[in-house]
Amino acid sequence: MPATLPFRRTKIIFTLGPATESEAMLEKMLRAGADIVRLNMAHATHDWTRTVIRRIRVVSARVGREVAIMMDIKGPEIRTGDLAVPLELKAGEIFDFTVKPGSTAGDSAEEVRSVDVNYKDLVNDIKVGDTVLVDNGLLRLEVLEKNAARIRCRVLIPGELKSRRHINLPGVKVNLPSFTEKDRGDSTVGLEEGIDFLALSFVREAKDVELLRTFLAEKKSKVRIIAKIEDQSAIAHLDDIVRACDGLMVARGDLGIECPFEELPVIQRRAVRACLAQGRPVIVATHMLESMIAQPVPTRAEITDVANAVFELADCVMLSGETTIGKYPLECVQMLDKISRRIEAEEADAGAHEPAVFTGERMKVLHSAVVLANQIPHSKLITFTRHGFMANGLAMLRPAHSPILAFTPSPEVFRQLRLLRAVEPYLMPLAGEPDVTIENAINVLRREGRVAVGDKLIVATDIVSQDRLVDSVQLRTVR
Ligand code: PEP
Repeated sequence: MPATLPFRRTKIIFTLGPATESEAMLEKMLRAGADIVRLNMAHATHDWTRTVIRRIRVVSARVGREVAIMMDIKGPEIRTGDLAVPLELKAGEIFDFTVKPGSTAGDSAEEVRSVDVNYKDLVNDIKVGDTVLVDNGLLRLEVLEKNAARIRCRVLIPGELKSRRHINLPGVKVNLPSFTEKDRGDSTVGLEEGIDFLALSFVREAKDVELLRTFLAEKKSKVRIIAKIEDQSAIAHLDDIVRACDGLMVARGDLGIECPFEELPVIQRRAVRACLAQGRPVIVATHMLESMIAQPVPTRAEITDVANAVFELADCVMLSGETTIGKYPLECVQMLDKISRRIEAEEADAGAHEPAVFTGERMKVLHSAVVLANQIPHSKLITFTRHGFMANGLAMLRPAHSPILAFTPSPEVFRQLRLLRAVEPYLMPLAGEPDVTIENAINVLRREGRVAVGDKLIVATDIVSQDRLVDSVQLRTVR
């Protein structure tokens, strides 16, 4: 068992890659307090996926800290085709994207260079005057004209075009399926190997999430869906998407390409608030510690960016390139841990926020538990949760300073609770008698050094009264 880590409310997700996939590195990342491992399927084979999922489980068991696994599927993606050699595109140059290979030749007096695109409907979806961004926005082109075989553009921002580069079309409603054949194959492997979350890329509206939910229902899977918002359509349908998903990821990498850059902080704030209002977990992702890919310390602006996500009360912060190809992946986790805990202490000192109001009787009971916890300095919330509802409900209410110590008998629920702000999950069978369960839980917490004699505990649990289960809130003192 690892020494108990200092309590942190904000959860840390890191993306697995060459820099972190060895057993030795994984062990260090888990011991440093990473909560969720993300597998980016844009860069993964099925063999690699199966191998690393099994490895994560083995290392988790060895370290005594079971982390959750999030598979991030690619979703609809438009890419350029193969090029024999990279092309150097010049400012002002006329350039074609073709949907019928070889279609440029012969329709123009001058020779126009071109590349194929893997999306046949491009010529239908795009309008003259639209923008085409290639390779994470490094190249920018404007559409001048189009026909059934190609779109003809002018290069606005020049640069080198290499094979199979990602294309973004800001503001264009793309007519591609949200859950592709590749996603289906990747997800099937993930479900077979026991992943905990599926992150769906480029969710444009709520029905994209519902489609994935139907697939999961067919597979009888309880995997939770994280909707990645990455373009303008997602912003237009934000509230419906938040309602439809089990968690949201503010995927700032693509968002920063698809939307005017000055909108990004506004979108982040709106998305986090929409999640808080509807009680959905939210992840702030991408470029959090980007400079640490190459340097051992972050920039001051990055420290402030992480702090901002914690001040906004996000559930998780996420690392991508920093831990896939970066030189300092472990230091990145340590850095997120340190910044988060400092900002959380500041928040707690600032005093209690009034918990949000949600409908439903059980939520009212949990609300009273959080109001009580907020009034008692150093108190701790304890709950017992078979399906995750009680822990999720308490996390939705964002207690000001109390950790939520959540006991569940289900290994799947235990891992899924890793996503939730302030929740520390414990795997424990629940006894038939609620009093025995509570005593058992307090003994576990005592052994782990999480509670001591005199601590005030607010227990939110169901108890049996006259043969019926009744929700209760109890104030107990550790003896
Ligand atoms: C992003 O765009 O910020 C993101 C997390 O998605 P991906 O890494 O899959 O591009």
